[in-house]
Amino acid sequence: MKIHNFSAGPCILPDEVFQKMSEAVLNFNNSGSSIMEISHRRADAQEVMDTSIQLVKELLQVPDTHEVIFTQGGASLQFVMVPFNMMKVNGSAAYLETGAWAKGAIKEAKKLGNVEIIASSADQNFNYIPKDYTVPSNVDYFHCTSNNTIFGTQMKSFPESSVPVVCDMSSDILSKPLDVSKFDVIYAGAQKNMGPAGSVMAIVNKEVLGKTGRDIPSYLDYQIHINKGSAFNTWPVLAIYGVMLNLQWLKNQGGVAGISKINQEKAELLYSEIDRNGLFTGTAVVEDRSEMNATFVLNNEDLKSEFDKMWKEAGISSLNGHRDVGGYRASMYNALPLESVQVLVDVMKAFEQKFG
Ligand SMILES: *Cc1c(COP(=O)(O)O)cnc(C)c1O
Repeated sequence: MKIHNFSAGPCILPDEVFQKMSEAVLNFNNSGSSIMEISHRRADAQEVMDTSIQLVKELLQVPDTHEVIFTQGGASLQFVMVPFNMMKVNGSAAYLETGAWAKGAIKEAKKLGNVEIIASSADQNFNYIPKDYTVPSNVDYFHCTSNNTIFGTQMKSFPESSVPVVCDMSSDILSKPLDVSKFDVIYAGAQKNMGPAGSVMAIVNKEVLGKTGRDIPSYLDYQIHINKGSAFNTWPVLAIYGVMLNLQWLKNQGGVAGISKINQEKAELLYSEIDRNGLFTGTAVVEDRSEMNATFVLNNEDLKSEFDKMWKEAGISSLNGHRDVGGYRASMYNALPLESVQVLVDVMKAFEQKFG
């Protein structure tokens, strides 16, 4: 049976990506070697990294002022790398607190300097995006989270800022067009919308680097990864190969503009059912709803085992909500077909027929 994988991450990838990755595990490009045993410095491995970087630049129209790097440690290490590279000694930064991942970023930044939480939606369990705030001009940078994977909210616009803007885009990168020039650091763990787990991408404005007065540990230094073309140390060739294949797939879907239309269609299909169906309620404020992660709950918790049985029987997997929200979360990343969302909607309708 076909599995409809609504996982929030690691996420579904296109079948052809899994196919080509598995071939490369046995025999990479007919070289007689597995991609897992070759040196990351071999020319054909270098090409995997270079192509991945090139594809990100092309798909997001990254301006020449910015460079793309792939490192490890996930978005969680970016929580640390950002203040190391952007916050002056005895400096400060402004953070927008929109969920658990934003809180994670704040926690790490506090270890290096003064963090001002300029707005928060903690008062409503992060079910909305705060809008009533201004970014101060006397901080080293402003940090926000574009899509709150756990709570199902998404920033539809970004505030004016006279200081560098840093954004964690782990769970909506490459899901729609983006003006990269408005940001100074964008980072995203690969496993949400870019590829398998094992790498994290950062897009860095080179002009904002080298201004902190810090002696940055080498691995944490963006400039070193830029200088080394993301090959400062042994990088995960198989994982980046997965990223490269997924980016090629995305390009063939018409790039971010093409996929964005399908993502909108998927989100609209599901949210209209959540709103229409009397047995469910969406948890995020309507205007801030995420196109990637839709969170909703049953109005009658007593029916939980019945609903769970129905979606599992339909081949749906990973629909349970995060423990901080409860209920359900349908993650609809790029590779999830519209057809899978239709299967979920059909289950919701059948559930209503039975119990409504
Ligand atoms: C998943 C996620 C993270 C954490 O990513 P890791 O790669 O596991 O460290 C950070 N931010 C957001 C928005 C996420 O969705």
